[in-house]
Amino acid sequence: MYAKTGILFFSFLATLNAWAAPSLPAAPDKYEKIRSLMNDLAAQKPDLARVVTIGESDSGRAIEGIAIGTGPVKNLVVATHHGNEYGSTEVAKAFASSLMEQPILGQTLYIVPVLNISGYNQGRRYETGKDGSSYDANRDYPGPCGSEGPFNLKSTAALARFVEQEGIVGSATLHTYSPAVVYPWGFSTRDLSTPYDDLYKMLVQAATVESKYETGNSTEVIYAADGTYEDYVFWKHGVWSILFELGYSHSPNPNAVAEMIRLNVPGLRRMFEQTPRERAERHDFTGKCLPRLKALDRHDE
Ligand SMILES: [Zn+2]
Repeated sequence: MYAKTGILFFSFLATLNAWAAPSLPAAPDKYEKIRSLMNDLAAQKPDLARVVTIGESDSGRAIEGIAIGTGPVKNLVVATHHGNEYGSTEVAKAFASSLMEQPILGQTLYIVPVLNISGYNQGRRYETGKDGSSYDANRDYPGPCGSEGPFNLKSTAALARFVEQEGIVGSATLHTYSPAVVYPWGFSTRDLSTPYDDLYKMLVQAATVESKYETGNSTEVIYAADGTYEDYVFWKHGVWSILFELGYSHSPNPNAVAEMIRLNVPGLRRMFEQTPRERAERHDFTGKCLPRLKALDRHDE
């Protein structure tokens, strides 16, 4: 008698629970896994690494990164301005693990594995901003030939502030999906040279010893795009700025991800080892903007 009542009671509870449960499972919070990985790494070697907050995003979440190393020169890696480009987050995570084993002498590396949190959780290129609108985070920075922003998103404003406050000297921004490692300028102009073309060629060469990816000027190798992070930090501050387009797909399988890591983590390390210890001095843009080139921006990398 008692057992039967108990079964009835639990089956009543299960029914209540079924009514209360949402009809569809919630999207998995993939960003939470990235956060806990960074916390785990920092906890393993608290004298070497710490979790840092870049700022808050429109998702209401804090954008976090991990600082690894104790050197005075501060460099930065940021991945996943485009939320669907999860391969870039995997390479950033792998680079962080490599630095935990062997930091770069004289440097502190800030790794931000995910900038666009809402896009990353939804597998979507664009980031949801205020009033639910969608923005391309890597067209949201000020630039000498214009921008789709600037700073419609809290995430891009937070990263710009962080670069300024921390005095970042060198930067790699990671994307997928057509293999290339490139340098400024990358916006709508034909005046693509900077006074540092030779130095930039040396850096992209260092970055691609293993990958053999195509290298060169951003506009020549990819296409012109206005309002990108990589141009902004060089133009505004003289940060040595390299863009990585990793691998061959926006949806690499685990083997392809492992290959992207194998090919690019040594190059990232070598590139930062060879990056000057001070920012560039001559980083103004003195050329001419060509607005008709804006039409070439495909918004797919
Ligand atoms: Zn991208």
